[in-house]
Amino acid sequence: MENEKGLTMRIVIKVGTSTLAHPTGRLNIQRIELLCKVMSDLKNAGHQIILVSSGAIAMGFGKLNLPERPKDVPTKQASAAVGQCELMYTYDKLFTEYNHTVAQLLITRPDIAGGGRRRENFHVTLERLLELGALPIINENDTVATDEITSIGDNDTLAAIVTCCIKADLLVLLSDIDGLYTANPHTHPDAKLIPLVEDITPEVMALADGAGSALGTGGMSTKLRAARMVTSSGADMVIANGAHPELLYDIAEGRAAGTRFAAHRQEA
Ligand code: GLU
Repeated sequence: MENEKGLTMRIVIKVGTSTLAHPTGRLNIQRIELLCKVMSDLKNAGHQIILVSSGAIAMGFGKLNLPERPKDVPTKQASAAVGQCELMYTYDKLFTEYNHTVAQLLITRPDIAGGGRRRENFHVTLERLLELGALPIINENDTVATDEITSIGDNDTLAAIVTCCIKADLLVLLSDIDGLYTANPHTHPDAKLIPLVEDITPEVMALADGAGSALGTGGMSTKLRAARMVTSSGADMVIANGAHPELLYDIAEGRAAGTRFAAHRQEA
């Protein structure tokens, strides 16, 4: 598959915890199977795919049989350590079915903030993995990133940083919401989905209510901040509902799906 200009693209896809896990913290098998199938197909069509996957903490607390997402740091870190294995085991198994090779990259804020050697190493490794045809899967290194100095904090921001770093064409944030609405659709049933945002004005920023889901970390405000970062670096960003992974086909072809934030392309 090619986009509307007949080109293949470099696409960063961020999958949120609410897309990957049931409220119990256990894996949503049907969902992850379909996601891996669609991403494999996009890769077969010639697109480069980089996956930023949340879900380590949720998968870990599910596997450790804890009753809910932990709130204290050591239990979160322990859950992430367990869950990251489970996540990569699952991705490895599913992508291998479609003959794709996955690679795990775990990073923290000091690895990529402010340039420097570690960011360069990260960038070089990522580019080499793409040249080698591998599918990089990135998450925050939750077992060592604990505070505002070491942690990026949410994977919407991490995905935006990765998109800018590798000059991707498109970032897709798959979440438990269809896109950006004119008001909070949970409290305003007549709220309308906004299909295209060309400028992220203060009025657009004010549409975020900041709330994350019970399982994950981000909310609409982290997504809008990600959009601001990504569009000003020249890439498009789309927020779409991860419950429908086949939307990725429409998004890659530039067709309407979710909310698209248009890149601010520099005039030549
Ligand atoms: N790194 C966290 C995890 O894998 C998720 C962060 C987020 O949801 O934004 O559980």
